[in-house]
Amino acid sequence: MKKLILVVFLVVILSGGMAVAAKQNISIVIHGGAGTIQRDQLSAAQEESIKQALQAALDAGYAVLESGGDSTQAIIAAIKVMEDSPNFNAGKGAVYTKPGKHELDASIMRGSDLEAGAVAGVSFTKNPILAAEQVMLNSPHVMLAGSGADTFSELKGLAQVDNDYFDTEARFKAWQEVDAKTKAKKAEIASGQDVLDAEFKFGTVGAVAVDQAGNLAAGTSTGGMTYKAWGRIGDSPVIGAGTYADNRSCGISATGHGEFFIRYAVAHDICARVRYQNKSLQQAADEVIMEELKSVGGSGGIIGMDPAGKPVMVFNTPGMYRGYKTTEKSKVAIYGDE
Ligand code: ASP
Repeated sequence: MKKLILVVFLVVILSGGMAVAAKQNISIVIHGGAGTIQRDQLSAAQEESIKQALQAALDAGYAVLESGGDSTQAIIAAIKVMEDSPNFNAGKGAVYTKPGKHELDASIMRGSDLEAGAVAGVSFTKNPILAAEQVMLNSPHVMLAGSGADTFSELKGLAQVDNDYFDTEARFKAWQEVDAKTKAKKAEIASGQDVLDAEFKFGTVGAVAVDQAGNLAAGTSTGGMTYKAWGRIGDSPVIGAGTYADNRSCGISATGHGEFFIRYAVAHDICARVRYQNKSLQQAADEVIMEELKSVGGSGGIIGMDPAGKPVMVFNTPGMYRGYKTTEKSKVAIYGDE
């Protein structure tokens, strides 16, 4: 009997210990876009509002992880908060296309089995990240685009809105400025090329997390770039460019000038350096963002996480809305020097 009690005691202690050890792994990192974000451009009230929204997103994602939820649900929870916030260029608050509408892109990827889903150019789906999840879970495809993607999300019971739901005054002002500049320059309006070469305000959102089971997931959601040509698709819904997750290397969500991130397959390239060259995630991300991309004028950044739950945030722009929450520390930041 005494032996039995001892065995039971040991099993309880060991399993408890293991649960604690596994739990220490949980971690989430987010971004709300990179760009020319400098102190003189934001009022104290705007700064506060952005930081609060970042913190709310982190808390929502972390709560899922803490309660034993998986990393895909954690990143969806975080991204949904940012899609619903007018502070970011995703969901409500998305930028305007050249014709003055909104077309949204999103993607999600699971590191345990490399399953992924994405939607591109949706106009009526309230939370594009939920549509990306549905593509991953309930379709044989990886990416759906345009009206077909909206129809699919509606059929899956996701909330639909009028396109002007995504309107905000600040984004409309940005559209007006670019419109005036473009017309003044007599640019080739149909191509949007002139604007894509100009300076942008970004604001895409993304999240990467690792759960108690040690599984990584990454996701990204965006309105794209101000004044983008109709039908233009950026890196955010492209698996390997704006989003990637593989338990054998890392999870990544990117933000920046999408055309560069697609051509340099940024998210996958970083994970490949980790996997095949045994580099740390920090080193791999520094090489790709601060050296390769920067040298060709590709501005932006990434957030990433390794399977041990170490968050990484790298950007070659003056600022990036960002934050992370681990079992040890939580932080949100905007500018490059914080
Ligand atoms: N990467 C996004 C795009 O090119 C924009 C952004 O991150 O702000 O569509």
